[in-house]
Amino acid sequence: MDAMTQSATAAPPAHGVPRIVIVGAGFAGLSAAKALARAPAQIVVIDERNYHLFQPLLYQVATAGLSPADIAAPIRGILRRQKNAHVMLGSVTGIDLAGRAVILREREVPYDTLIVATGARHAYFGHDEWAAVAPGLKKIDDATRVRRKILIALERAEDEEDADERRRLMTFVVVGGGPTGVEMAGAIAELAKVALAMDFRAIDPTMSRIVLIEAGPRVLPVFPEQLSAVAKRSLERLGVEVRLGVPVTGCAADGVTVGAERIGARTIVWAAGVAASAAAEWLDAEHDPLGRVFVAGDLSLPGHADVFVIGDTAHVADQAGKPLPGIAPVAKQEGKHVAKVLRARLAGRPAPPAFRYRHAGNLATVGRTAAVVDFGFVRLTGLIAWLVWGLAHIYFLIGFRNRVAVALDWLWAYATFQSGARLITEVEVDVAPAAAPEAGARIAATQPGFGGGDDTA
Ligand SMILES: Cc1cc2nc3c(=O)[nH]c(=O)nc-3n(C[C@H](O)[C@H](O)[C@H](O)COP(=O)(O)OP(=O)(O)OC[C@H]3O[C@@H](n4cnc5c(N)ncnc54)[C@H](O)[C@@H]3O)c2cc1C
Repeated sequence: MDAMTQSATAAPPAHGVPRIVIVGAGFAGLSAAKALARAPAQIVVIDERNYHLFQPLLYQVATAGLSPADIAAPIRGILRRQKNAHVMLGSVTGIDLAGRAVILREREVPYDTLIVATGARHAYFGHDEWAAVAPGLKKIDDATRVRRKILIALERAEDEEDADERRRLMTFVVVGGGPTGVEMAGAIAELAKVALAMDFRAIDPTMSRIVLIEAGPRVLPVFPEQLSAVAKRSLERLGVEVRLGVPVTGCAADGVTVGAERIGARTIVWAAGVAASAAAEWLDAEHDPLGRVFVAGDLSLPGHADVFVIGDTAHVADQAGKPLPGIAPVAKQEGKHVAKVLRARLAGRPAPPAFRYRHAGNLATVGRTAAVVDFGFVRLTGLIAWLVWGLAHIYFLIGFRNRVAVALDWLWAYATFQSGARLITEVEVDVAPAAAPEAGARIAATQPGFGGGDDTA
């Protein structure tokens, strides 16, 4: 153990204590790191981003309700008071199980114990080519890209003379009726039909068409049927068309195919599926069809007591044998559990009982003042559910600044019906390529925009 920590090629010396390397500072990795604050070990947290991201509110960045910095917090800042924690910025590309080292692009980090918590990514059900026209929401870049697409579509519609193209530009399709899809569709509807209602002259944004497509029989399938029905009605009240029981069979820059129907749309948002990170490949481990690594009761990799896999990347079954959902509370509880196992090991105490998830409830919001909450023993809808949803999200956000910023943004939006973060960033766009050649129609520039193909919708 000591020899290994001495021979570190890209990590601070561990000074005789074991080194616990945590890959991923999402909900799972960060909760493990924090719960190991007093452990006699060096905790090395590696992430390819320098910030922890609160993914549940990404859709609000995508729909101009919040700014990216409101829902992200620097990892170094979060762990700055934790003396045994070291943060490394780097992208892991593999794991050398035999040599007990994490492989980054140009260096290796040896470990005594490894916790893999690299989360999930989008899944397009074998149609990866749809990613170019139907971005999902996973990273801040995804959210600002979707925001850009929505706002540019309306800008272009304002200048568009062809009625069919204007219709496509003012049609927004969200694929997937889980919480992300429902929240996204509701937020686009509010943005177009309320916040932007008076901002344009040639078009009427309230005439925008928002379509939510779900292959299953109802939206929010993890909620009780009654709450799914409430959510559907709330969406419809906001003007969202909800299509149930129909899978999307094609996505292109100018629309989606649903059964025999073609819906022309320049903006498609993918909220239909995720798959685990590449951890199963790195570990050459048994995994389920979504790539989630099968783990033992203590969340370790079978046959490797010093390697743990947690969060969206792990397949952990509940008492009924059903895999636990990919949600933040599961990830956090798994992180805490692994920390407990390791603290016991370091102290020479017996291992705690196998991991058991305690479910607190499900929450989803459907626009302003409407939400559904299922705590099992009580189900809430409407304003009260929305308040519970809002308070829960503010409470779970990391960082006092972010909590205050989000609370103030929401209060402002609630009082004024306005969205504050309506900026089109990082794009070179000829707002109306055919119709507006005058100087001044150009917005400054770093990426190809509408005409460029890949980011077209
Ligand atoms: C849009 C959206 C909305 C959601 N809404 C909710 C919700 O309302 N409620 C809820 O409970 N859950 C929600 N979830 C799910 C929840 O966010 C996840 O279950 C949770 O983030 C999983 O935590 P994790 O630590 O496993 O992964 P993540 O939080 O995704 O963290 C993974 C970390 O690993 C890092 N990483 C990945 N690959 C590498 C690599 N190769 N090298 C180095 N670092 C790497 C990433 O940068 C990231 O920081 C939502 C998810 C999304 C995408």
